[in-house]
Amino acid sequence: MTRPRGARGRFLKVPLKERFWKFVVAGGIADCWIWLGARNNDGYGVIRDDDGKMVLAHRVSMVIHSKDLQSDEVVRHDNECNNRACVNPWHLEAGTQGENMKDMWRLGKRAQPLRDRHGRFARG
Ligand SMILES: [Zn+2]
Repeated sequence: MTRPRGARGRFLKVPLKERFWKFVVAGGIADCWIWLGARNNDGYGVIRDDDGKMVLAHRVSMVIHSKDLQSDEVVRHDNECNNRACVNPWHLEAGTQGENMKDMWRLGKRAQPLRDRHGRFARG
């Protein structure tokens, strides 16, 4: 069976949902579903949406699984997973950018000021 090709030889009309699954090793709810497709510089999976725009794979996963997602919300991985290549919707949660920053603080991903045991900022 031949599929219609666009002017640049790209396959047309294969919906994002279908293409998405070609790049995923899905397992159970507790397993990380590893993204095998392209990744961005931060290590997150990326895929082109139906308009040819690069979108985050774990975000697509949320939409495919009909999780509520506002356009201004970020999708983050929960603390047990914390695997950027994971697209398991049960390991993802939507939140605001502010919550994301709080998470990063809690997980110690950002350098925090050094304090001595009295709570004062350490010098040097
Ligand atoms: Zn995971």
